[in-house]
Amino acid sequence: MQERLPRRLAAVLHADVAVETQCDAIRTDWVLAEVQALFAEPFSNLLYRAHGLHRSWFDPTEVQISTLLSIKTGACPEDCAYCPQSIRYDTGLKDEPLMSVDEVVLHARAARERGATRFCMGAAYRSPKTRQLEQIAAMIAAVSDLGMETCATLGMLSVEQAERLKRAGLDYYNHNLDSSESYYRKIITTRCYQDRLDTLQAVRDAGLKVCCGGIIGMGETVQDRAELLHTLATLPEHPGSVPINQLVQVEGTPLHGMEPLDPLEFVRTIAVARILMPRSHVRLSAGRTEMSDEMQALCFFAGANSIFYGDKLLTTDNPDVTRDQDLLARLGMRPEAAKTATDGEERR
Ligand code: SF4
Repeated sequence: MQERLPRRLAAVLHADVAVETQCDAIRTDWVLAEVQALFAEPFSNLLYRAHGLHRSWFDPTEVQISTLLSIKTGACPEDCAYCPQSIRYDTGLKDEPLMSVDEVVLHARAARERGATRFCMGAAYRSPKTRQLEQIAAMIAAVSDLGMETCATLGMLSVEQAERLKRAGLDYYNHNLDSSESYYRKIITTRCYQDRLDTLQAVRDAGLKVCCGGIIGMGETVQDRAELLHTLATLPEHPGSVPINQLVQVEGTPLHGMEPLDPLEFVRTIAVARILMPRSHVRLSAGRTEMSDEMQALCFFAGANSIFYGDKLLTTDNPDVTRDQDLLARLGMRPEAAKTATDGEERR
């Protein structure tokens, strides 16, 4: 006869069953009230649920390592209020023209030697011109030949441009929604939310995988965060990568001097993203230099499973590689292995 389980253990096991039954459900029909309810959950309940789901889709001891390189820096005509690369703000940033293919390959090789499996190339454009796109296509082909996953972020794209990049060997295109639609208008005036959604559609139509997330700590409300994650989780397909950035306050930009965000709110956002999009890589992106090791550990527990390695993220600081290696070692975590051609979904 089966012994009765102590009540607390039974509750834990039953909760596990509840998590297990959710693990198959990849939903794109979330309603906003469900997302709001997740944000309102007691912290421990939210983390328990997020971690359970994380475990059912990923090895929680693995973290994907990406490296981000700014291949063209500054002089951007857009007015994103957080960005030192906008030509409108005096931040002391030195503009750099588009790099050569050889220079990019040198950076990619070095990143691969440090354990990065994905190489992201970022250029400060509203939208790339044909000549620029051709040079970037050559970079993508060369990095792809090194056996790395490739990602690019170049601003708005048409379907034809996205198809050109796909033919060059691009795996992912990054295009963040940044915030909720209503808050977006307060931080950017040179384009609208629909422009972002149109580029994401063009990228999907071209058969590229989507990397899309947002920035937390720009003065938005919890409602804005819920709306951002709701929009991401109800796209026709969940983005394969969901970067969650914490605002890096750069002197000279309009968002410099914002009230710092409660770190637990950031962790909460990671946990909600993990629950809504259980199969996506949730990336702990900009702002890690401001985060304690304990906060990053909580983020990993809540479902973050991707970070950027390297001392710079486009133009802002990132923890140095040895600090990251030390943190991962102390947490018993290791870099996710590079995907091979037979890994299917995750690889071209
Ligand atoms: S975030 Fe991108 S589009 Fe906006 S100003 Fe910076 S480089 Fe330009």
